[in-house]
Amino acid sequence: MNLEGAWICSTSNCGYMYVPAKGDRKGKIPPGTSFEELPEEWRCPVCGASKKAFRPMGELEKGGER
Ligand SMILES: [Zn+2]
Repeated sequence: MNLEGAWICSTSNCGYMYVPAKGDRKGKIPPGTSFEELPEEWRCPVCGASKKAFRPMGELEKGGER
């Protein structure tokens, strides 16, 4: 699975990960939509948290490689 540009929900007990390559079928987000392109009213399909509750997965990866 291509996890490039993935963002993870930081709410406790959630762990939902938004993956652009997959999109969000529940939220009617087509595959290929980057997290930045999601509408502001988009909510985590699991816990209902707003976009502000998400953290970029890429930040973690870059920190280890560079
Ligand atoms: Zn969530």
